[in-house]
Amino acid sequence: MDFDFTPEQLELKERARAAGLVWRGRHKEWDSENQSPYAEITKAMRDAGLLGLTIPKEYGGKGGTALDYVIVVEELFRTSQSWILGEPPFCTTGPGPSMVLLADEEETRQKFLPDIVAGVKGCAIALTEPDHGSDLTDLETIAIEDGDHYVVSGTKRFITGSPENEIYAVFARFDGIPGAKGVGCILVEKGTPGLELLPGATFVGSRGLPHGEVHMDNCRVPAENLISGAGSFAKLMTAFNMERLHNSIYSLAFAEAAYEETVQYCENRKSFGKDIIEFQATYHTLVDMHVQIEAHRLLTYKAAVTAIDSRFPRPLESTVSKLSGAMMLPTLTQHGLLLHGGDGATLDYPIQQIHRDAIAAMVAGGSPPVLRNAIASQLFPDRRFSQK
Ligand SMILES: Cc1cc2nc3c(=O)[nH]c(=O)nc-3n(C[C@H](O)[C@H](O)[C@H](O)COP(=O)(O)OP(=O)(O)OC[C@H]3O[C@@H](n4cnc5c(N)ncnc54)[C@H](O)[C@@H]3O)c2cc1C
Repeated sequence: MDFDFTPEQLELKERARAAGLVWRGRHKEWDSENQSPYAEITKAMRDAGLLGLTIPKEYGGKGGTALDYVIVVEELFRTSQSWILGEPPFCTTGPGPSMVLLADEEETRQKFLPDIVAGVKGCAIALTEPDHGSDLTDLETIAIEDGDHYVVSGTKRFITGSPENEIYAVFARFDGIPGAKGVGCILVEKGTPGLELLPGATFVGSRGLPHGEVHMDNCRVPAENLISGAGSFAKLMTAFNMERLHNSIYSLAFAEAAYEETVQYCENRKSFGKDIIEFQATYHTLVDMHVQIEAHRLLTYKAAVTAIDSRFPRPLESTVSKLSGAMMLPTLTQHGLLLHGGDGATLDYPIQQIHRDAIAAMVAGGSPPVLRNAIASQLFPDRRFSQK
């Protein structure tokens, strides 16, 4: 087992760090205005060569590994302290393009991947519905085959990247088949008649990144946009594990950012005539934060290093690392807030934004109880864990 990065990985890390530092400090304005120059950021990431990291070169990707993805996204998040910087690598490498890579037909890959991977057309994941989030196998959105088209109808909410993105990877029920067996995925393009992209809920965290609702009323979608129909749920989830890895990196990088902010505060704030970092209660808390970050780092890196074909994170490892991050981050940022005293309760220090982002990150991509269910079903495969 080798814990050292190769010279190529070190170069990638340095490149991502430099690309992230350019935007450092901007998150405050993006957070308060709840908008960001997303197209400009995507261009900057493209110029830095940080898009399509794990996608094969034949489709315009970098042909790299899931570990490359971790290295890049961790640096971008940590240096910028902004959820937005990780989004271009996510949209061009994450579950959207990874699912297209697994599409049934080569023409689907040829049609969509080059533009997605180049960051020209963003691909959002449209899974969650107003009445179905965790119970994603109960989806009500339907896709009905009609000649060389599918007719798609349904409503999705909390969709990150909407309305900015051009492509929506819509999870739907095919052929009216109930349960997981009927779930498949089809790409619905912006401009399709019947597709309406509306503003959604206002989140406390991940602000500046667009999130919206996706309404589909009898959208006629060409059959070549089909990723995979009924019976492909397990295959689609293989690509979805990139989402869990992404969330795990998020928790790692934002925990590091919270730690850095807290250390800086404690080194400069005085009480009883000395820097508060010299109180045992303070440095014990900081040490505990450090240990939690290091433990979570190992799980995140393990999920990347053990990925299938170096590219598709395994279900158990990616879910364990996502759960670890979801539980660790909000607790850690709360400790950081407390060490900021009254300043932690103001909007004047970055720690409060990181704490709000931690709350949003806890549920995105699957809530902790649902992750535990998924892990249990793999640890005890002979048992049934029906939630019905
Ligand atoms: C910032 C952010 C970004 C997001 N981006 C996207 C996106 O891009 N695309 C997308 O499709 N979705 C997105 N989501 C939605 C997210 O995936 C869902 O919110 C999440 O899966 C939970 O679904 P829900 O909100 O419907 O909660 P529910 O499923 O209603 O759950 C409510 C509560 O019940 C608990 N619960 C539910 N079922 C069980 C069970 N079987 N056992 C134990 N407890 C259970 C949950 O843990 C939770 O505490 C995003 C969410 C956030 C916050």
